[in-house]
Amino acid sequence: MSFHSGFVCILGRPNAGKSTLLNALVGEKVAIISPKPQTTRNRILGVLHCPKSKGRDAAQVVLIDTPGVHKPDSSLGRKMMVEVREAMEGSDLVLLIVDASKPSPEDQFVINMVKKAGTPAMLLLNKIDMVKDKAKLLPMIESFRQMHDFEEVIPISALRKQGLENLIQEMIAALPAGPRYFPEDQMTDQPARFMVAEVIREQILQQTSEEVPYATTVVVESFEEDPRLTRIAATVYCERDGQKAILVGKGGQMLKKIGTQARLQMEKMLGTRVFLELFVKVKAGWRESREFIDELDWRRQLERLAGAGERARK
Ligand code: GDP
Ligand code: MG
Repeated sequence: MSFHSGFVCILGRPNAGKSTLLNALVGEKVAIISPKPQTTRNRILGVLHCPKSKGRDAAQVVLIDTPGVHKPDSSLGRKMMVEVREAMEGSDLVLLIVDASKPSPEDQFVINMVKKAGTPAMLLLNKIDMVKDKAKLLPMIESFRQMHDFEEVIPISALRKQGLENLIQEMIAALPAGPRYFPEDQMTDQPARFMVAEVIREQILQQTSEEVPYATTVVVESFEEDPRLTRIAATVYCERDGQKAILVGKGGQMLKKIGTQARLQMEKMLGTRVFLELFVKVKAGWRESREFIDELDWRRQLERLAGAGERARK
């Protein structure tokens, strides 16, 4: 018996349930979720550790959640699509996820991306809990099979965690023998500092509407960990004064609500008490600023923080 491992990219249109699936497979919340499209902006890695069991080798599946495939109309959107392509390029397997309760002609666009990449792909028909007439699934499977030579077609419900055992079996069977890339207690490569920014963004997605969530981004300015208390200061950037007024709310109520909900989530995640300070700033047109969008990339921020640490020690 050998150890299997590999990189598996979760690909699909906005709202198909990619991030819900990632969290369900990893068993912990590593990606934020919302009913609004374009919730996920970066590729997010989650590690699924599978011990050896009857008839199955031990394995490690490194899952990569990606932003929804869409036609970008801003620098931010283009950067999101670069994240999708980069995730797909480095993968051994693609999980193409579609909303089975709402099939759309645009699914073809995503299938074409997979064809072009040439990476083996499984098709996941998600949200089957919403498909009342299960007899519809068979013809749907048939028509997708005609569009592409999928390794497998698997009906699932990421939300209700249905069909996931079967999916895990099939993924492991499809992955080559390989090393353990991550230690067994590691679930993601995102540092806590950046996960808390996402937690704040999730609250903004939940508490505000219309263009506000899309015009907003969050930068963590400081993150100080003590064994019992984590002190966090973060800036919420939006594009216009009107959006800032909404984010702050009457007498600061909205910002307080966002802050309180986010803090409770962070306390659960970090296992310490959290002291959170939030600021709102207007940065006109940030979604079109290549420079600022590059700054938002946590992998890049990490390099900069490491550089600052180096200089401070010198
Ligand atoms: P993503 O944009 O593909 O990452 O989609 P999300 O994971 O953020 O989910 C989008 C919405 O679909 C959220 O409201 C989820 O709760 C919902 N959702 C995801 N999977 C399922 C499912 O299996 N069944 C149902 N009913 N809803 C789901
Ligand atoms: Mg997502």
